[in-house]
Amino acid sequence: MKTFTEFGLEPKVLQAITELGFEESTPIQDKSIPIALTGSDLIGQAQTGTGKTAAFGIPLISKIPLSEDRIVALIMTPTRELAIQVAEEIGKLSRYKGTRSLPIYGGQDIGRQIRALKKRPQIIIGTPGRLLDHINRKTIRLDDVQTVVLDEADEMLDMGFMEDITSILSLVPEERQTMLFSATMPPNIQRLAQRFLKEPQHVSVIPKNITAPLIEQAYIEVHERQKFEALSRLLDMESPDLAIVFGRTKRRVDELSEALQKRGYSADGLHGDLSQNQRDNVMRKFRDGSIDVLVATDVAARGLDVSGVSHVINFDLPQDPESYVHRIGRTGRAGKEGAAWSFVTPRETDHLHFIEKVTRQRIAKKPLPSMAEAIEGKQRMTAERLLEIVQSEDFNEYKASSIQLLERYDSVHLLAAAMKLLTGEKKDVSIELTPEDPIRAKKRRPDIRSSGRRFSGGPFGGGNRSGSGKPRGRDSYRGGGSGSSRGGRDSYRGGRDSYRGGDNRSSDNRGDSRRRNDDYVN
Ligand code: ADP
Ligand code: MG
Repeated sequence: MKTFTEFGLEPKVLQAITELGFEESTPIQDKSIPIALTGSDLIGQAQTGTGKTAAFGIPLISKIPLSEDRIVALIMTPTRELAIQVAEEIGKLSRYKGTRSLPIYGGQDIGRQIRALKKRPQIIIGTPGRLLDHINRKTIRLDDVQTVVLDEADEMLDMGFMEDITSILSLVPEERQTMLFSATMPPNIQRLAQRFLKEPQHVSVIPKNITAPLIEQAYIEVHERQKFEALSRLLDMESPDLAIVFGRTKRRVDELSEALQKRGYSADGLHGDLSQNQRDNVMRKFRDGSIDVLVATDVAARGLDVSGVSHVINFDLPQDPESYVHRIGRTGRAGKEGAAWSFVTPRETDHLHFIEKVTRQRIAKKPLPSMAEAIEGKQRMTAERLLEIVQSEDFNEYKASSIQLLERYDSVHLLAAAMKLLTGEKKDVSIELTPEDPIRAKKRRPDIRSSGRRFSGGPFGGGNRSGSGKPRGRDSYRGGGSGSSRGGRDSYRGGRDSYRGGDNRSSDNRGDSRRRNDDYVN
């Protein structure tokens, strides 16, 4: 770890870093910043949450002269949310220097983006689809780009953006610096790097345990039918500040967030079928704390950096260990502690052990919280809220009536009644969730494909929609000319999410994760 003063940065950039509260550089920043400042190509590998944005953002901002009025830097990110997030951090880092940056993503009014582009941004942070759209309209030209960053490159390839990335990079001058950042380095990323980077320097920070040590991990063995009761007891017992609950499918997310609301929790759901507006709304409510439980599919929550998430709950286990790591990485951010709980049905215990093995972490088994523990947790929470008010001494208007009450009633009775009122009775509504099939333990033989098929005809149906979200719509987009493409593009994205979250038994998805797991295993 170094302090940022050791990189020889200009004072205005340092000032912004200080204001962001960064005291020491993270390991990936330590290694990347000096290399990036020399202009060399770079491949940076580090887990989510390790500060990769600043690792490329700081040198990028340092390099751009203030007088520059062309687009000289291009950052590509896989999703709209990440584009916004990266743009926010770049914006903060360039606050004093005055570097101009602009996020470009699908779902936002294109006219508004075109107007913003007229203000001559120097850095564009965009998702591949919308970038191509602007390039086709000639509202973005890449002729002057000197630096390209491929952020979360593994995600971009997972989402099928290889072709788009290739088209975009073919429009950027060869003479440039290219930096690629990724949490994982599967073979397709290595191929991408070989193709587009020149003599890159490799920088990687691979912790011994690929999960953060500050995250306490536990699992509870439950039957599918018990999961909702388990969830509500867990939420009561733990009273999380902010929790993300992961569900396997969009249907699951919808049903679960609705069920939680019915039971009186402030929860909402996030998945790819929501409109951009709805997604933004949910995220805003979660960030400002007006909801404290976010129910999400993997894709919807990937890479999101919301500070203060105290709990991640895997209502359904993810298919592959990498998703597990990504999911639990939503908590324990920025050196804070976090808890990750997983619900595991009896038939999924093998799969859990597989996740333990790959992540090289033990996940402790805990009993289902008892009703008494749940109640105790809620009361503790209520007591904390009461004591906060006591300490704030902001209750003068209530004193007179309290004194009157105390003259007539017992103080313990009064306080108990107040606590009951504050704690709130759990609403007694019956909840029915559509059951999900258990996840099967990995088999490392090629015959898994056939067993997967057999499985998809299981008792709960669910059908086999394999490939429904695969880039098929994409091909028709490609052939469809640019006029009608934009709508297709966005719906493709949504479709993608439904592909991921929507049907875990999709053979393509299983194929991917299987390959990746094998990388780990061997
Ligand atoms: P990654 O891209 O590796 O997933 P991010 O760049 O999103 O990680 O950073 C994760 C969080 O850590 C962000 O909130 C960021 O502001 C914060 N962060 C980055 N660098 C530092 C640092 N040197 N010190 C403290 N916090 C940092
Ligand atoms: Mg990142």
